[in-house]
Order: sequence, then structure tokens, then C-alpha cells
Amino acid sequence: MAVLQSFGAAEVVTGSCHLLRIEKGPTVLVDCGMFQGTVEDRNFEPFGFDPKEVDILLVTHAHLDHVGRIPKLVKEGFKGRIVTLKSTMDLAEVVMLDSAHLMMEEYRTRYRKAQRRGAEASVRQPLYAPDDVQAVYDLPMTFVEYEKTVRIAKGVEATFRNAGHILDSATIELDIEERGEKKTIVFSGDLGNHNDMVMRNPETVKRADALFIESTYGDRNHKGIAESVAEFKEVVVDTLLNQGNVLIPSFAIERTQEILCLLKRMYYDKELPKCHIFLDSPMAIRATALYDEYHDELSKECNDYLKRDGTIFEFPWVEYTLKPDDSKRINDIESGCIIIAGSGMCTGGRILHHFKHRLWNEKNALLFVGYQAEGTLGRRIIGGERHLHIYHEEVVVRASIHTINGFSAHADQSDMIEWMERFDELGKIFLIHGEYDKQKIFKEAILHRIDKKAHIVAPEENIYL
Ligand SMILES: [Zn+2]
Repeated sequence: MAVLQSFGAAEVVTGSCHLLRIEKGPTVLVDCGMFQGTVEDRNFEPFGFDPKEVDILLVTHAHLDHVGRIPKLVKEGFKGRIVTLKSTMDLAEVVMLDSAHLMMEEYRTRYRKAQRRGAEASVRQPLYAPDDVQAVYDLPMTFVEYEKTVRIAKGVEATFRNAGHILDSATIELDIEERGEKKTIVFSGDLGNHNDMVMRNPETVKRADALFIESTYGDRNHKGIAESVAEFKEVVVDTLLNQGNVLIPSFAIERTQEILCLLKRMYYDKELPKCHIFLDSPMAIRATALYDEYHDELSKECNDYLKRDGTIFEFPWVEYTLKPDDSKRINDIESGCIIIAGSGMCTGGRILHHFKHRLWNEKNALLFVGYQAEGTLGRRIIGGERHLHIYHEEVVVRASIHTINGFSAHADQSDMIEWMERFDELGKIFLIHGEYDKQKIFKEAILHRIDKKAHIVAPEENIYL
């Protein structure tokens, strides 16, 4: 009998890591992500299993909370095969290297401070270094294509389908055979929002004996995209016309490209007042280049732009500020800027510099377009915190604060239930990747809407399949 245990993204929304032990078959790990926000200390704890026993690592997509602990897995002995799309590993390299650099930077800062107190021994080493990321790419890899079933071990086949969440994200269907009995286990991965401008809609899966479905937004339905787009346009246009600036903390992957796509649409529709748009995130710039490169599975709008302009996201008012000096020069422009910078939850990155320079001014607008996890600076600002400490300076928040939820790269409650309804045969439902209180609401909604019981997976619980 196959047994699954979740060593991350069980009753929390980050740290995705699900281990499937198949009787007389391989041990398969689905994702190996970083814990973020209030649970980030868990990254430093042991995995809860021996990385050496894992034969195959399947990766649903390149978000940090799905790939961020792979270098640690390799450091601690994983020597198996990675199976995923090639674009996912290219994007994952950008994500993991960025994470490694951030951790190194943080380590050096803490070390310097501790040195002054003579307490350097107390400073925790970073989880991994850039070299550890490179070591991941020395492992054997099988690159798959959507909808093409591959045999990954004796009695185990995998099919990746477009999950419509970020560039080449996947829902993974595993067909396993134990003692002559066949079973289909499906991992939804993170499912996309069906209104996404950049991505296509998530593909339908036909059958599952067991479905492990994400539940990030299982408790709610997003506002309609039309309403969110209207709200976005209003904030942007009003702020620019009022001689202000718009700050958009944005995830480097997907949200940034979606916002660029929307601004491009506004530009060509002549809805955008004259402004300077800065993509001020090296990571987002690199990720955007990969969206251009692997454009096949993106929306029709993206492919039309590419055909017409030779680039999906660029247009005359946009500037990519890769170098720190170019980024600093943005500070010299008093008004009329739209600044898209990381990190998405304001836990670090260049957005903090822009906060320091511009949040005190009531003419400016801070526009949240993405999920803000508990414990992050973004969540605290949304929660009403108006006196911030950024780089040893107190910053008062007088800029207007706006939260637009409709841009989520995640399916909402209705999207997920409708996705499940499209299965011809659906066996047991297991909820992963969600905050527990939201999962309880999702569980009730599933029962109410499709008359099925769902089980909330507890950390390290044995699920017999
Ligand atoms: Zn994701």
C-alpha cells in the first residue's frame, strides 16, 4: 500500500513537500519548497525523512515555496532523478539563486552586527549557498512535456498537465501499480486563476483515486477580474494625475508579468497618463525573459504581442533597471513613476528602498496585488501598521494603501470546486497547501457543493492510499 506524508504545506501555505512511498516501488517526493513567513524557522529543521531514500523528485512549478529546499535536499544526500518541465528548472534556477543570495546577504549583515557584540558564533549559517544551487543541476533530470505520459519507474507513470498558475506550472497525475492493482494519485499543484491575462486556464484531469488539492484561497472567491482591473486603473490613473507615484510590491514570477501586460494594454488603449514605468527587480527581469523564451503555453494575448512587437511585455515607457545604480536613479524622479519591485510580500528586496523614499508622502499610492502571508511586512501594513522601521529608519506611512485581490495566480474556491467537478471519477480528496482555518471553510464548501468529504492533511500524518 502506498503511503503519503506531507512534510510541508500541511495546514500551512508554504514549504510544499509531499513524500509518497510506493510499496516495492520508488520513493517519490513531490516538491521541496521553502517555508515562508512565520514558519520560516522550519527550513532549518530536519526534513523528517532521509533525503537519501528519495528516488525521484517531481516538481510542480518553480515558486520558492515549491522548490526552495531542493538545494538543502541535495546537500543532505538526495542523489535521485528530478522529473519536471525544462522551463520549470530554468525558472527554478533564477528563484533558488535569488534565495541563496538573499540568505547570504542576510547572514553577512547579522554576522557583522554580532561581531561587534562578540557573538558571531550565535549567527546561524544560511540554509544554502549559490554553489549548492548549482549542485542541483548536476543531478540526472528527465524533462517532460505537457500531456505526454512518461514512465518514471517500474509500475509508475507520470503525466504533467498545465495548471495555469505560473509559467509551465503543472498538475501531476501519477499512475501507480501495486500488486497488480492500479491507482491514480493526482497532485493539483497550485491551480491558476481562470481570469489570468498571461496564463491559460488549468487543464482538466479525468480521474483520481486520490486527489491532493491546494487550498490557498479555499475560503473565498476573488473579486471579478473586471472589477480588479477597473480598481487598478483607477488607482494608477488618479495617483499619476495627482503628481504621485505608484509602488507595486510584486512577485517576480507571474504577477509582475500580469501587471506589465495590463499596463501595456492601458498604454495602447491610451488610458495611461504619461509616466515612467520601472521594473526594478533583477529576478523579475530574468523571469520575464524566460516567459518570452517559453511562450508557447501562454495566453493568446501574450503570443499576439510577441508576434507583433517581438517582445511580450515591453513597450516604450517601460525601463528594466537591472543594475543597482539604475535603481537608485529612480529616487531622483519626483513624480509620475510606477515602480514594480520585489519582494512580493515586502520582506526584503528593492521595494524597501522605495518605501523609505516614498511611503511618507500622501500623494503616493502603495498597491498590493498579491498574497501577503502572516507575519510579513506587507500583511502588517494591510493590517494597519503605520510606523515602520526600514533599514534603521522610522518611516511613517501616509501613502494611500490599496489591496487588489482579483489578480491572484491562485484559483479561488469556486474555480477549485468547478475544476473538481470536471473529473469523471473522483475518489478521496485531501487538502494541502492552505492555512488550517481556511481549509476548514473549503472542506465545508466541498461538502455543500459537490457532496464529497475532504480530509485536511496534518503534518507528517500517514495517508494510506
Ligand atoms: Zn505557486
